[in-house]
Formats: sequence, C-alpha cells, structure tokens
Amino acid sequence: MIISSVVYAFDPKNSPVGKAKSGDTLVFETMDCFSNEISREDQLITTFDYNRANPAAGPIFVDGAEPGDVLVAEIKAIDLKAQGVVTTLPEVGPLCDIMQVRTKVLKVADGHTEFNGLKLPVKPMVGVIGVAPAQDPVPCGFPGAHGGNLDCKLMGVGARAYFPVRAPGALFQLGDLHAVMGDGELCGTGLEIAGKVTVTLTLIKKTPLDWPILETADQWHAMASSLDFGEALKAATRQLCALVSKAYGWDATDTFFYFSLWGDLAANQACQPCPVPMVLRVSIPKRADKPLIRA
Ligand code: CA
Ligand code: ZN
Repeated sequence: MIISSVVYAFDPKNSPVGKAKSGDTLVFETMDCFSNEISREDQLITTFDYNRANPAAGPIFVDGAEPGDVLVAEIKAIDLKAQGVVTTLPEVGPLCDIMQVRTKVLKVADGHTEFNGLKLPVKPMVGVIGVAPAQDPVPCGFPGAHGGNLDCKLMGVGARAYFPVRAPGALFQLGDLHAVMGDGELCGTGLEIAGKVTVTLTLIKKTPLDWPILETADQWHAMASSLDFGEALKAATRQLCALVSKAYGWDATDTFFYFSLWGDLAANQACQPCPVPMVLRVSIPKRADKPLIRA
C-alpha cells in the first residue's frame, strides 16, 4: 500500500488512512511543500496560498500505540522526483532586507543537482515527520515536541527518529522532502521536492520522552524548537541530559561537562526572522555499550 492522502496539520482528530503493526514497513508518497504548485521560475511564492503549504501523507494508526509510548520511524529509502524548487520568502531569513523574492527550479539527476553551474550532490531528507500532539492541532509547517517541521538535514536514509506518542495510535505522517538543505535552512526553503519515502515503524512501550530524538550512524541528537534561541537550547539539552544521565549513570553536572567536551550544537532550521520557531539539535557520539533508547 502506498500512502498518498494529504493532511495539513498534525491533529489527534485526523482520521487515520491506514493501520500498521509495530515492525511494518510502509511507503508514503508526498507532494513538495508547495503542494507541487510551483514548477517554473516565473511563479513566485507571493502568489501561493499558504493554506496549501507543507502537505503531509498519512496519518497512519499504529496498533497498540498509546500516550507514554515512543514511536520509532526508520527511514529505509527516499525516491525523489526529477525537479525541485527553492524560493526566497518575503521577510524571512537573515538577508530578507537585501534580497529579492525569486524562485529557482533545479533538476535532480544521477544523485546531483546543479546550482548556477556548481554541481551539488543531493542528500535527500524528510522535513516534516512526526506524530499527533495531545490536543490542539499543529500546522505541518510548524515544529514541536510531536516532531512536525523539524527540517533536520540528517533525517535521511538510515536515520531512526524517536517520537513521543501523545494520541492513541500515534497517527504518524510525513512530507516536505528536500533534495538538499544546509544546516539552518537560511532562506527558509531547501530544494523542495516531491517523492516517496519508505519507513519502518516500531513501537517502544512506556518510555518517557519529551522531544524527538534522532539516531544516525554515529550520533544521537535531541531536537527542540522555540522562537527563542535560549528556550530551544535549554529544551534540547535537557532532553539529551535526561537520556544520557540514565544510560551513563551520571548526574546532571557530569553530563553537562561531557556535553561541553564532546557534544555538538547545530541549527536544523534557524531562518530568523521567521514566524516559524527555530529548531536546534544537541548531539553526542554513539557508544555501542550505551544506547540512549532501546528499540
Ligand atoms: Ca520544511
Ligand atoms: Zn521544505
């Protein structure tokens, strides 16, 4: 089954379009973040209806998932269409007062795209991914503790994302693929593109988690969002501290020393000024003997 239904919010009241059991592998087909409506360079974002921004495919009801559990989404494959778009957005990003609003259409072929004569290897990633929040709906363009628009360039093939379940069935959904995007997503868009994502969903029962965790080949990352840098930093660091303290048997102070010596801070998305909260990630190297969460 290919999941290609469209929703524009993470919402516990969304009707599931399919069911999965823990361990199932599913394929999601998603439009780009502009609902595939921008395909030429003479089409500017200023003519786009933002109500149609960031469509996600889903949601999927995971059997047995209950508030207090963790849903693991492992990305197995990402198949991109042959063309993506990147746009500047009015009043968004650190150069917004000196830039023009423009659209660039870039081809994707043989694992590369080309920007102004420069060949760039594509690094496909999923921008919007997560589960329903407990109560109020969150538009897909916004990040939060449920996931959503995390815009993490490491959310690619092989990555495992851990989400705190807050609604019965978890209601997993994803969208907003990028062929390539840098940390910070400074102009507010990556190379926005449609495509298919193959995901394996696994349930971990009764595991405390406040913010999404990402596991990549050699690092663990805690991600948190806020319009305020300090708040996002505090939330991500505290989430990672809770897991590291438990796995390593350290108190908060020793964990804090370790983060300062051996951890990293990066911005998934920080295209300020922007009405969308920034998303930061705090990361530490993986150790085989100390998994932060056991799937
Ligand atoms: Ca995005
Ligand atoms: Zn996007």
